[in-house]
Amino acid sequence: MIVSKTNDIPDKIIVSVLGKVKIRQIRTYGKNEEKAMGTMIRKAKTMGANAIINFSYRGDGIWGIRNIYTGLAVIAEDIRKYWQSQKCSHCGKRVKVTDYFCGSCGTKQ
Ligand SMILES: [Zn+2]
Repeated sequence: MIVSKTNDIPDKIIVSVLGKVKIRQIRTYGKNEEKAMGTMIRKAKTMGANAIINFSYRGDGIWGIRNIYTGLAVIAEDIRKYWQSQKCSHCGKRVKVTDYFCGSCGTKQ
Protein backbone atom coordinates (compact mmCIF):
# COMPACT_ATOMS: atom_id res chain seq x y z
CA MET A 1 0.00 0.00 0.00
CA ILE A 2 1.37 3.38 -1.03
CA VAL A 3 0.76 6.19 1.46
CA SER A 4 1.37 9.71 0.14
CA LYS A 5 1.15 13.07 1.90
CA THR A 6 0.42 14.82 -1.38
CA ASN A 7 -2.54 14.40 -3.73
CA ASP A 8 -0.62 12.47 -6.34
CA ILE A 9 1.84 9.61 -6.63
CA PRO A 10 4.82 9.73 -9.02
CA ASP A 11 4.33 7.46 -12.07
CA LYS A 12 0.80 6.59 -10.97
CA ILE A 13 -2.57 7.82 -12.06
CA ILE A 14 -5.56 7.97 -9.70
CA VAL A 15 -8.30 6.04 -11.50
CA SER A 16 -10.82 5.99 -8.66
CA VAL A 17 -11.40 7.89 -5.40
CA LEU A 18 -13.14 5.63 -2.89
CA GLY A 19 -13.51 7.92 0.10
CA LYS A 20 -11.97 9.31 3.23
CA VAL A 21 -10.32 7.15 5.88
CA LYS A 22 -10.06 8.52 9.39
CA ILE A 23 -8.53 6.99 12.50
CA ARG A 24 -8.80 8.58 15.94
CA GLN A 25 -6.42 7.38 18.61
CA ILE A 26 -5.26 8.41 22.09
CA ARG A 27 -1.78 9.79 21.63
CA THR A 28 0.90 7.27 22.28
CA TYR A 29 4.31 6.75 20.86
CA GLY A 30 6.18 4.14 18.90
CA LYS A 31 4.36 0.90 18.25
CA ASN A 32 0.86 2.29 18.70
CA GLU A 33 1.42 4.81 15.93
CA GLU A 34 2.44 1.94 13.68
CA LYS A 35 -0.73 0.16 14.78
CA ALA A 36 -2.82 3.21 13.80
CA MET A 37 -1.19 3.20 10.36
CA GLY A 38 -1.93 -0.51 10.08
CA THR A 39 -5.59 0.06 10.96
CA MET A 40 -5.80 2.84 8.39
CA ILE A 41 -4.26 0.69 5.67
CA ARG A 42 -6.61 -2.21 6.51
CA LYS A 43 -9.60 0.16 6.31
CA ALA A 44 -8.47 1.43 2.91
CA LYS A 45 -7.92 -2.15 1.67
CA THR A 46 -11.45 -3.09 2.77
CA MET A 47 -12.71 -0.26 0.58
CA GLY A 48 -10.79 -1.76 -2.33
CA ALA A 49 -8.01 0.83 -2.41
CA ASN A 50 -4.37 0.18 -3.22
CA ALA A 51 -3.12 3.60 -2.09
CA ILE A 52 -3.81 6.43 0.35
CA ILE A 53 -3.22 10.03 -0.72
CA ASN A 54 -3.49 13.34 1.19
CA PHE A 55 -2.34 11.54 4.30
CA SER A 56 -1.98 13.71 7.38
CA TYR A 57 -2.10 13.45 11.13
CA ARG A 58 -2.61 16.03 13.81
CA GLY A 59 -3.20 16.30 17.52
CA ASP A 60 -6.69 16.99 18.85
CA GLY A 61 -8.36 17.61 22.19
CA ILE A 62 -6.90 19.21 25.31
CA TRP A 63 -3.08 19.24 25.01
CA GLY A 64 -3.47 17.29 21.81
CA ILE A 65 -4.03 13.99 23.59
CA ARG A 66 -5.61 12.38 20.56
CA ASN A 67 -4.08 11.81 17.16
CA ILE A 68 -6.28 12.01 14.12
CA TYR A 69 -5.03 10.30 10.99
CA THR A 70 -6.81 11.11 7.77
CA GLY A 71 -6.31 10.21 4.15
CA LEU A 72 -8.10 9.52 0.92
CA ALA A 73 -8.46 5.89 -0.17
CA VAL A 74 -7.85 5.60 -3.91
CA ILE A 75 -7.08 3.15 -6.67
CA ALA A 76 -3.84 4.11 -8.40
CA GLU A 77 -2.58 2.52 -11.59
CA ASP A 78 0.84 2.59 -13.17
CA ILE A 79 0.74 5.49 -15.60
CA ARG A 80 2.44 3.59 -18.45
CA LYS A 81 0.10 0.61 -18.15
CA TYR A 82 -2.84 3.00 -18.01
CA TRP A 83 -1.93 4.77 -21.22
CA GLN A 84 -1.13 1.49 -22.93
CA SER A 85 -4.52 0.08 -22.03
CA GLN A 86 -7.24 -0.44 -24.60
CA LYS A 87 -10.86 -1.52 -24.69
CA CYS A 88 -12.04 -5.10 -25.06
CA SER A 89 -13.38 -5.80 -28.57
CA HIS A 90 -16.26 -7.79 -27.09
CA CYS A 91 -17.49 -6.09 -23.89
CA GLY A 92 -15.77 -2.70 -24.07
CA LYS A 93 -14.15 -3.00 -20.65
CA ARG A 94 -10.61 -1.72 -20.22
CA VAL A 95 -7.87 -4.29 -20.81
CA LYS A 96 -4.12 -3.77 -20.67
CA VAL A 97 -2.11 -4.29 -23.84
CA THR A 98 -0.13 -6.90 -21.97
CA ASP A 99 -3.31 -8.89 -21.17
CA TYR A 100 -3.94 -11.83 -23.44
CA PHE A 101 -7.56 -12.26 -22.40
CA CYS A 102 -10.19 -9.77 -21.20
CA GLY A 103 -10.50 -9.91 -17.41
CA SER A 104 -14.27 -9.37 -17.58
CA CYS A 105 -15.58 -11.59 -20.38
CA GLY A 106 -12.56 -13.74 -21.22
CA THR A 107 -12.44 -12.80 -24.91
CA LYS A 108 -9.02 -13.25 -26.49
CA GLN A 109 -7.46 -9.88 -27.33
ZN1 LIG B 1 -14.32 -8.26 -22.54
